Amino acid sequence: MEKTIIIGAGINGLLLGALLANDGIHVTILEKNSFPGGRAFVYERGGYSMDYGVHLTRFGQKSALAKIMKRIGADVTFRKLGASYVVKENGEKLLFPTSPSGIFSSKMFTFSEKIRLISLLVKIKKGTFNNGFMDVSLEKWMTRTGITGGIRMYLELLSASAMVCPFVEITSSGEMFRNLHKVFSTGHSAEYLECGWKPVYESLARAIEKNGVIQYGTKADSVIIRNGKACGVTAGKKKFMADTVVINAPVQHLFRMLPKKLFDKKYVAQCENLVPTSGIFFDIALKKRIADCDGLLYTYNPITYGLITSNLCNELAPEGRQLLTMFYPTSIDDVRNTSMRKYRKQELWRAIKRYFPDIDDCILWKRESSLTMIDGAQININQTDDKRPGPVVPVVSNLYLVGDSIAAPGAGGDVGNESVLETYAAMTGITF
Ligand SMILES: Cc1cc2nc3c(=O)[nH]c(=O)nc-3n(C[C@H](O)[C@H](O)[C@H](O)COP(=O)(O)OP(=O)(O)OC[C@H]3O[C@@H](n4cnc5c(N)ncnc54)[C@H](O)[C@@H]3O)c2cc1C
Repeated sequence: MEKTIIIGAGINGLLLGALLANDGIHVTILEKNSFPGGRAFVYERGGYSMDYGVHLTRFGQKSALAKIMKRIGADVTFRKLGASYVVKENGEKLLFPTSPSGIFSSKMFTFSEKIRLISLLVKIKKGTFNNGFMDVSLEKWMTRTGITGGIRMYLELLSASAMVCPFVEITSSGEMFRNLHKVFSTGHSAEYLECGWKPVYESLARAIEKNGVIQYGTKADSVIIRNGKACGVTAGKKKFMADTVVINAPVQHLFRMLPKKLFDKKYVAQCENLVPTSGIFFDIALKKRIADCDGLLYTYNPITYGLITSNLCNELAPEGRQLLTMFYPTSIDDVRNTSMRKYRKQELWRAIKRYFPDIDDCILWKRESSLTMIDGAQININQTDDKRPGPVVPVVSNLYLVGDSIAAPGAGGDVGNESVLETYAAMTGITF
């Protein structure tokens, strides 16, 4: 039986493993942690089931995640978000529109801006901007097009949330237009898994274990390469042999497992220098209910956003209690710098209080995470789909990559889920 080793039980290593096991390939997944999910792990404490930050899935039922789960016979369903809002620095709360009627009722725009925005979104839906614009920053595009006022604020908020890049001077406008085109043409935006992430991991483990194994607490040290071909992995004193090896770790960490000298310097630099998205998350377990809203809660100046996850999936918090997650996307430098990190955390805290001034009295416990890597790749003008490493590793045969830092369509986590389809196609020749 053909054997594949996957290094990493992140969501994308597991999705790929489940597809391969489903095809009758023997799959061994080596995971250094004692739990699945990598950056999308689920933390359970005192009846709360907490994602690492918010884990929304772009395009819901039309996502690569849904497609793959269906293929392995473990369909998933999603919950659409409810009304979203933005609170400005002066405390003014506005409806953040997610539909044409929302645009007309929101006070975010003047009347002429409403007409202009609708016409812009119609063009995006038609795919007018789907080709080109990849190297044009959103800032440049907005300046050229004369976008100001409410529309500018709207696009800045979308850049920060849909693209996880609040820096419009580098966000790729072409990538963002493609992303929005998919939202409008599928009718699905960011949605939440109806039963949370835990059942997804359970289904994937079941699918893999039918024809393989997930070995937790096993850190892969290096890929064994013989005659230019990957044929196994060393982990401590153990050797695991296989016909094919897949690395699910982010490409920035690739050369911890592969000898740099085998590869072109450009390829090494492309992997090592890839800029991830970064920021600060507060995940808050609340001892009482603070609000019924089930949409995104944005703030502007600074741009932060989040939601009460347990309002989308009741099982995530004990009865009468809630789970709130808020995110402040920042630069990697801010996260690395002690005083900036502290300052950004204070800003995020003040932003949360724009919505919930009395939140201090409702907190049971909270987790603060300052993360240098949220998504493997920031979708900026220097790192568009075509500029990231592909699923096939050069020079070494039978060696593949999967995950959210490689070349695949989309932004944020859906890059990773889409990469599973790309890697699976490269390995098996099968597309679906
Ligand atoms: C706080 C937070 C919030 C997020 N919110 C969203 C969201 O709302 N929507 C969205 O789409 N995306 C979101 N993301 C991004 C999403 O989590 C990632 O895109 C996704 O989890 C990446 O999965 P992956 O499998 O590609 O990589 P990873 O999760 O990084 O998985 C790699 C796995 O490999 C393992 N590993 C690494 N090296 C070794 C080794 N040497 N040996 C063995 N194992 C190894 C790691 O432990 C890990 O389990 C968020 C991320 C974070 C951190």
